[in-house]
Amino acid sequence: MKVKCLIIGSGPAGYTAAIYASRANLAPVLIEGPQLGGQLTTTTEVENFPGYPDGVEPFTMMDDMRRQAERFGTQFVSGIVTKVDFSVSPKKVIVEDEIEYEADAVIIATGASAKYLGLESERTYRGRGVSACATCDGFFYRKKTVAVVGGGDTACEEASYLAGLCEKVYMIVRKPFLRASAVMQDRVLNNPKIEVLFEHNTLQLTGEGKVQGADLIYRKGEPDEEQRHIAIDGFFLAIGHHPNTELFKDYLKRDAEGYILVDGDSPRTNVPGVFAAGDCADPHYRQAIVAAGSGAKAAIEADKYIKSL
Ligand code: NDP
Repeated sequence: MKVKCLIIGSGPAGYTAAIYASRANLAPVLIEGPQLGGQLTTTTEVENFPGYPDGVEPFTMMDDMRRQAERFGTQFVSGIVTKVDFSVSPKKVIVEDEIEYEADAVIIATGASAKYLGLESERTYRGRGVSACATCDGFFYRKKTVAVVGGGDTACEEASYLAGLCEKVYMIVRKPFLRASAVMQDRVLNNPKIEVLFEHNTLQLTGEGKVQGADLIYRKGEPDEEQRHIAIDGFFLAIGHHPNTELFKDYLKRDAEGYILVDGDSPRTNVPGVFAAGDCADPHYRQAIVAAGSGAKAAIEADKYIKSL
């Protein structure tokens, strides 16, 4: 099927691109993957997206965006993109190994996924004390006790941010040192509200219907190995993200982490007519509002590109 503009991804970047592209008469087709609404839907409430003064449930917000795109004629297709060919013009995008689209412009908004430890209890309490975004969810833990897992810059940043809100913050670090930059380490180690638990790993989370504690193991496998329990209300993962960009690796330039490289402040990739928006190209901000803004930019650029053909 031939389309003018094809959008891959159903988070804030994808839906915003769809709103703009459909209002520009590009009749976009948006491919929605298995996580409708994207990463945002793993959180409980959104309070920092302008336009919702009383906060909003993430599913409601994403459904609002989707309906807004639908209103202007976006066509939604449910499925996983299994193959692309950006070496040809129009570009080819294949969904579920079956349906082949040819598109003048493609907007990639496939997002990034937070890494989790892989514990069963982590899944049980997802959205009920387990979070991978302190900026999104920290506010719900005001004056409470939380733990942050990880020893990199993100973990230090999240721990510092949470220390501004919470009574106490544990950092659970698997090595005897922090990997973070010196300045971030100093900030964490000199904050009286933060206690760094070096050489600790998490065994499981505990609690009645929500996170109330964590069982940890200190120096696993060593003669002085010891199990410990900490009482916590929130458990924040900060062990890294991975952008969902594997599919494009043969065509698009990416950084060492896999984030798609774009031309300066624009959403243009190294392939003319292919644009990247949202977290798949943003290792820094990872905010819904930023993703939405870049989705708008991508649609505007796609429109310009199509008109130039
Ligand atoms: P990093 O990969 O730098 O750090 C991940 C941390 O998580 C490490 O301490 C790692 O431990 C730990 N970790 C990974 N897997 C596990 C696991 N299974 N169990 C326990 N701990 C685990 O990721 P970040 O997200 O922190 O940073 C990504 C990039 O972004 C970095 O280059 C960073 O410098 C940059 N960044 C910069 C910021 C700034 O400058 N303000 C802010 C945020 C990020 P270990 O050390 O043992 O491997």
